[in-house]
Amino acid sequence: MRGVNVHGTEATKLCRGCGRVLPLDAFYPNHVAGGVYARCKECSRAAAARYRAEWKARVQGRRGDHNHRHS
Ligand SMILES: [Zn+2]
Repeated sequence: MRGVNVHGTEATKLCRGCGRVLPLDAFYPNHVAGGVYARCKECSRAAAARYRAEWKARVQGRRGDHNHRHS
């Protein structure tokens, strides 16, 4: 498994977001990849919050020139 280091029973992983080596408990499981996400829960939450904020800003910005135009 790439990026995952197992020391005895304790598995840790380097977070791609904050660069800290954290226990796997600190990462959300990624069932698609069969492991965990590249970023820890903290970074995932921060990324999700940033994504939501950007999406909200985009929607609000779009609302200004939304005039029911059908092309
Ligand atoms: Zn992190």
